[in-house]
Amino acid sequence: MISLGGLRTRFSMKVTIYRGAKETGGTCIELQSENSRILIDFGLPLVDENREPFDSKKIKNKSKEDLIKSGVLPAIKGLYKDEQPVFDAILLSHPHQDHYGLLSFVNPKIPVYLSQGCKELIKISYYFGQTDCDPKNVEAVTMWQPFKKGNFTITPYLVDHSGFDALAFLIESESKKIFYSGDFRGHGRKSVLFDNILKTPPKNIDYLILEGSMLGRDKGRYHSEKDIENELARVLKNKTNLFFIACSSQNIDRLVSIYRACVKSNRIFVIDPYTALILDKLRKVSTKLPQFDWGKNIRLFFVPNRYTMKMAGDKSLFKFKSAKITYQEIQNIRNQLVVKDSYTTRRIFADKKYLGNSKLIYSMWDGYLPDVKPFWDMHNVPIVKIHSSGHAYVEELQKFVKAINPKYIIPNHTFYPEKFLELFGSKTKIVNDKETFEI
Ligand SMILES: [Zn+2]
Ligand SMILES: [Zn+2]
Repeated sequence: MISLGGLRTRFSMKVTIYRGAKETGGTCIELQSENSRILIDFGLPLVDENREPFDSKKIKNKSKEDLIKSGVLPAIKGLYKDEQPVFDAILLSHPHQDHYGLLSFVNPKIPVYLSQGCKELIKISYYFGQTDCDPKNVEAVTMWQPFKKGNFTITPYLVDHSGFDALAFLIESESKKIFYSGDFRGHGRKSVLFDNILKTPPKNIDYLILEGSMLGRDKGRYHSEKDIENELARVLKNKTNLFFIACSSQNIDRLVSIYRACVKSNRIFVIDPYTALILDKLRKVSTKLPQFDWGKNIRLFFVPNRYTMKMAGDKSLFKFKSAKITYQEIQNIRNQLVVKDSYTTRRIFADKKYLGNSKLIYSMWDGYLPDVKPFWDMHNVPIVKIHSSGHAYVEELQKFVKAINPKYIIPNHTFYPEKFLELFGSKTKIVNDKETFEI
């Protein structure tokens, strides 16, 4: 507080979006109130300066100074390992690398707050060498339970997203309120969380920092995760084919949909040890996730890739032995299987001549399809696309904004911030990356 002629003047809250005001990925937002500072997300960019896919290998073995110079790391004093820390906390919204992938550069004395599921998935990604972030000084939050960091009161909201255990944050300070949506949607397996926000929205929000990934993107043929499950079950009822399915092992909602479709169609979901380990580690977060020891609809193919080798090396593979499917079994019951696709799995199946009369179900973002299509085309395997987005559709964004009714909306995590103006008119406040504004 500053005293002016006996009157106490309230400090404003300062907001700086370092990246994400006009692009998807690489989210990094700073809030400052008096001497308190927090950072929300610290993600790897998804695109480079030419809007080409960002090559994360380019940052390997680079110094902090080089990465600040090239614009990958934001120039923030008091955040990095070799500096005296000035931040009270880092809040991570969810375990996608475009929200946490630069964390390894941060001074580990700064505490990181995240969900239990986020913590588990980052630990797994670190174990398998997918990230350099080793989450040490981290604390799992309790949903909807406010906690204080410096001048800020932070309330984590569990939201529906393709990233597991994802959070939005309500952040209050000096009578100002910001709601950061994080990445979210209203049509996943936890759509009830979206409905709950519509029914009982956070009140008197000054600024809503809102993701807009789906603006400018095609919605696709299937609306919800439930539609995906139903369509998968329908397709899988055809008993003449061996099915491969391409999906992310960390898209837990999708794994549940596939498993449920396998139960409905009396098929066996064949996952790899990496996927089985992820589901096993998440038992402590949810008891509803399909597990390797659930019996007849789930088995493991011990694909000899570096992930399986890593698990064999430290004996963690042993736990999953009871669910292992043999080559003989694969040969005998091929047309009852739904095999989780991976680079090595598809090649082994091709070598063993198992691919005859196969189909690939492609259940991921279209952008990754060119990586795998040549292989399947070469083996004359038809591709069936069954996917829905991990992000809110335009109509969901509209419902969300209507319910929360903020004074202002700041576009974030979008390539089309100007489309917010079309949707939300004068409430929209488009900002530039690295620009600090006061509220
Ligand atoms: Zn994201
Ligand atoms: Zn995400």
